[in-house]
Amino acid sequence: MSVPHINLNCEKCATTSTTLQLYSHRIYRDGDLEIPVQCTLGWCESCDNLRAVESFDDDDQVSKDICSLNAELSQYRSTLTTRLLTRLKPAYRSNRRQQEAQRDALIRRLELIGKRRGNEACLTCGSRNIRQFDGDYSLKIGDSFLYQGSKRTGFFHPGCGGEFVAEACDIRFHFARVTKCYNVEGELVDQFRT
Ligand SMILES: [Zn+2]
Ligand SMILES: [Zn+2]
Repeated sequence: MSVPHINLNCEKCATTSTTLQLYSHRIYRDGDLEIPVQCTLGWCESCDNLRAVESFDDDDQVSKDICSLNAELSQYRSTLTTRLLTRLKPAYRSNRRQQEAQRDALIRRLELIGKRRGNEACLTCGSRNIRQFDGDYSLKIGDSFLYQGSKRTGFFHPGCGGEFVAEACDIRFHFARVTKCYNVEGELVDQFRT
């Protein structure tokens, strides 16, 4: 897997970070459920760096996704043909089970958003001592699908005062796909290659 990315460098000291960490595959594990994790960039006081931190701003999208999954699931029950298909074809049945599991995970995510919003954790160390990154690191994407140029982000390194500068990274970074598992408190409990 390769992902074009942006480096974030403090103009005054050697502190540097990257948007690559936002692309890790992360899930919350809650019993049998695998709940999706949303993340954004934030300043973690414990890591003393910009990190991927939990984000709980997707409640509208999650509600919409639950509605459309419910609509799809109700089709399974609505006609005699689908009922017969469900009984006869294992693929049909497993597809339904997958959608049910997906819907249950999203319902759980909605509960999590209600409970945990305002108490987001750093996805590296679990600390709650974080501050939202309120700068802008967006860069243009060029012809070769890589970011171009650099720009001041408007976010200042806490305790240092240097501004973070976003710089296009002109190499595509290849990394093994690793799934990071968290408990519902946002603490890393396991990680494995997938
Ligand atoms: Zn600095
Ligand atoms: Zn941290």
